[in-house]
Amino acid sequence: MSNDPLRDWRIAEPPHYRAQADEVALFEAAYAARLPVMVKGSTGCGKSRFVEYMAWRLQRPLITVACNEDMTAADLVGRFLLEPSGTRWQDGPLALAARHGGICYLDEVVEARQDTTVVIHALTDHRRQLPLDKKGELIRAHPDFQLVISYNPGYQSLMKDLKPSTRQRFTAFDFDYPEADVEAEVLSTETGISSAQAHQLIAVAHAARRLKGHGLVEGMSTRLLVNAARLIQGGVSLHAACQMAMVRPLTDDADLRDALEHAVLAVI
Ligand code: ADP
Repeated sequence: MSNDPLRDWRIAEPPHYRAQADEVALFEAAYAARLPVMVKGSTGCGKSRFVEYMAWRLQRPLITVACNEDMTAADLVGRFLLEPSGTRWQDGPLALAARHGGICYLDEVVEARQDTTVVIHALTDHRRQLPLDKKGELIRAHPDFQLVISYNPGYQSLMKDLKPSTRQRFTAFDFDYPEADVEAEVLSTETGISSAQAHQLIAVAHAARRLKGHGLVEGMSTRLLVNAARLIQGGVSLHAACQMAMVRPLTDDADLRDALEHAVLAVI
């Protein structure tokens, strides 16, 4: 369809997603009931990949917004643009998805200020409406529209948290790092690395994940393991790949790096 306003956001190829439990069926149930979804979990543990996969499975376009603290409500809703011929309204990502029936994914939503996130309120209860105050329009959400947010409870603080009135509009999934065999499958399918090599990387990751709360703010994510596996597939040694893709990005602390170096040496 050439006049499909969301064609750029359609996902043509099935994203690779290895399910951990019954999250696929549960997301489908939430979508069928048009309930908003919140996916919670540490960075790099598969939240965005899951959302991409679900959008593809449900054959819905996916409009992703990486949230940040400078984001304003206009960045989500839209604004008038000044053009030589006058002003023109441009829908923001949330308005586009609500108007035409896409899935809008607000990644790392707690990064946005609370006064920005309140614009989702009328969209996420029975009203399913988005007021465009500046334009004087009220969008009634398309029946296929859904809102999904992701959220890393590890970064939770008084300054960065969702208002109770926001969080209590969502259904929620708790994501965690996959079990070793599942994570090995993810690494092998994503990069072509052997299962034995994948398990070596995972042994290092488990050592690092045990250090969470003992100096490390976050565990070692699956994303870092995928990066290391890609380097290994490109001919880099296991030792160098672990240092470059897993240990150094994770921490600058000399003691923690030492501990992780021991974990690396123990598996090679
Ligand atoms: P985040 O939780 O930060 O959104 P991502 O979804 O971007 O993390 O995951 C990071 C990377 O980890 C992905 O690009 C993918 O390579 C890999 N990954 C993590 N979990 C899975 C999974 N269950 N199936 C397939 N790939 C995964």
